[in-house]
Amino acid sequence: MHPGLKELLQVQTLDLKLAELAAELARFPRRIAEIDAQAEAARAVLAKTREAQSASLKDRKKLELDVESWKEKVRKFKDQTAQIKTNEAYRALVHEIETAENEIRKAEDAVLDHMVAGEEHDRQVKAGEKALAEAEAAAKSAKQAIEAERAALTAQQSALRAERDREASAVPSPLLERYRLYAPRHHGIAVAQLDGETCSGCRVHLRPHIVQRLKRAETEEIVECESCGRMLYFDAPPAAAPAPAVAGSTAAPESAPQ
Ligand SMILES: [Zn+2]
Repeated sequence: MHPGLKELLQVQTLDLKLAELAAELARFPRRIAEIDAQAEAARAVLAKTREAQSASLKDRKKLELDVESWKEKVRKFKDQTAQIKTNEAYRALVHEIETAENEIRKAEDAVLDHMVAGEEHDRQVKAGEKALAEAEAAAKSAKQAIEAERAALTAQQSALRAERDREASAVPSPLLERYRLYAPRHHGIAVAQLDGETCSGCRVHLRPHIVQRLKRAETEEIVECESCGRMLYFDAPPAAAPAPAVAGSTAAPESAPQ
């Protein structure tokens, strides 16, 4: 195997893990936004209920003032009756009084309706406040859990990056350069194992002389797949070696003794 290819393979493995981590970390803002949206919905419901409550209260106050003003008119009309000279004027005044009293009854009925609605609004506001408090508490604890998860992943990311840089420093720069060029074109996999007589990267069957060149134990050349251009290796894959020790990693040890 070409010197440095083994380390390059480690770099590739770590880069793939780092890409997975980055994708996972990129989902966090959306997860947090979804949690915030739930609390926000409860807040919006409460605001709407309070709005209805305050509008009803405002209408009720206005109706109460209307009642007072109609009552004042009735008092004035009644004061006038003493000075009435004709039956016709008297009848007109009585009609005015009846009209005003009718308005008073209507307004008082409406005030009553608003009082009943007000009780319902009070209940709804209380329920809305409770729902909001619960939603906020749930959001807070969900966010704390998410932040803890994010912190652990970020720590894992730093450890993996350090590990990756250590491995990369052992890879000759032309090889690393070649990897940098090829990896993005092949979903991060620029180094592929020989699988039987096939390139494990693109599954194309390799010509016998390519396989032979790869299998020469002392070979230090870079052998490429003629189909996909990936750098090939024939060796026990380092994936079978112990996984790199990573601080904060939650991966369970393989086949731990019982
Ligand atoms: Zn290939």
